[in-house]
Formats: sequence, structure tokens, C-alpha cells
Amino acid sequence: MAYPDGAIHLKFIVIGEQSCGKTALMRRFTEQRFYSKAPPTLTVDVTNKAIIVENTNVVLHIADTAGQERFRAVTKSYYRGSAAVVLVFDITQHTTFENLGVWLTDIENLTDVGTVCALVGNKLDLQANRQVSFGEAQAFAIENRMTYFETSAKTGLNVDSVFLTLTNMIVKRVKGGEMRLRGDKSDSVVVIGKGSDDDEDEDDDEDDDERRRRRDERIKKQNEDSCSC
Ligand code: GDP
Ligand code: MG
Repeated sequence: MAYPDGAIHLKFIVIGEQSCGKTALMRRFTEQRFYSKAPPTLTVDVTNKAIIVENTNVVLHIADTAGQERFRAVTKSYYRGSAAVVLVFDITQHTTFENLGVWLTDIENLTDVGTVCALVGNKLDLQANRQVSFGEAQAFAIENRMTYFETSAKTGLNVDSVFLTLTNMIVKRVKGGEMRLRGDKSDSVVVIGKGSDDDEDEDDDEDDDERRRRRDERIKKQNEDSCSC
């Protein structure tokens, strides 16, 4: 597939518990279709989509991962170099929300500090069976520095908005010098990282400090929990 010359190539990763709708969301965005009976994802599927954001050609390389524990070792290798993480849960299954902490730990340990994150409550067409309130989910997202979206992969509601908003944030940061691209081949996947210390702004410094603090706290707690003394 030929991509526009000079396009920014960004890696996205979609994570979350099994059956919350990761594959359905990714396919809705890339193919504008809903498959009611898609086979479960085995390890990772990467799909590419070219878009234009902020008058800039961007190619997204979206890694759709398997949610099961037994595939985690493989999926973990896809976090590194991701410009954005889309963390999905199912608003009709409270357990998929309760387990978000496990995924957050992976995000904190495996992504660059500059990576942008969205929390997505999916299956909004099944509002009547909702087990996670909008307020509860949004509070969790704010606490963990993520943008919260509610989507339906089935109807398509808000799905494009997730991917386009994240891309927009990244492109603005790249253009503003707050994030820099690592790697410069226009036909290869470009890894994105933080800009040099000189051009970081104060808000981002605060975000990073906060994320580092949370990461340290979580690791400390994990160590305490696993200590039998
Ligand atoms: P994954 O394991 O997270 O990739 O989940 P899938 O994308 O395979 O979806 C699991 C099941 O939920 C499938 O039967 C999908 O058809 C269904 N599903 C996914 N998204 C939605 C949605 O927005 N609304 C409804 N009603 N069903 C959905
Ligand atoms: Mg899947």
C-alpha cells in the first residue's frame, strides 16, 4: 500500500479485557463496518489507516491486541513506541472496568512518558444494561490523566472521534515541538517520544511527574503485596 509522501506514521495500541469490543472498534474505524461474529483476536493484529488531520497526512498503525492473560507476554512488546493507547472496557460488564488497574500498570511500565491515553467505555448502544456509570468512568479517567469517550462499535457512535482526537493531540504536540518523532523514514513506523527538556512546557512536566509518582506508588504497593514478611 502506498502512503502519502512525508506522512507522519504513528503507532496506536488498543488494549483491554477480552470481549469488550477492541476488534469491533478498530474495524469500525478502519473499515466502517461492524462484524457481530468476529473470531477472537490471537495475540496482535495490526491494521493501517491513512488520514488527514490538521492539514497533515498521518498513517496510523493500529495494533489490536488479545485481552487474555496468556497472550500478554506477546502483546506487551507492542506498547513500546506507541504514540497512543486506547484502553477499552465494556460499560455493560463491571468486571472489565474493575480490571483497568492491571492495564494501567502495563501502560505506566511499558510506554514512553509522552504517550497519550484514552479510556473508552464501549457498547453504548446497550445503555439499558449499563453497569458502569458515566460519572464513575469519567472520574477514573480524570484521576489517571486520560480522556474519556463512550462509544458504540455497533452503531459507530463516537468511534472516529476517539482515533481522530488522539491523532489531533499528537500532531499538535509534534508541531508545537512538545513531542518529537524518532526515526525519519516516511514509509516506516515512526516512534514518538518526548521533546528535549528545553521545549517541554510546565503542564506536561506536571503530567509526567504525576505519572512517574503513580508508577512508583503502584510498584511499591505491588512489592508490599507480594512480600510475605
Ligand atoms: P475484543 O475481544 O475486545 O476484541 O471484542 P470483540 O470486538 O471481538 O467483541 C466481542 C463481542 O462484543 C462481539 O460479539 C461483538 O460483536 C460485540 N460488540 C463489540 N462492540 C460492540 C458494541 O459496541 N455494541 C454491541 N452491542 N456489541 C458489541
Ligand atoms: Mg479482539
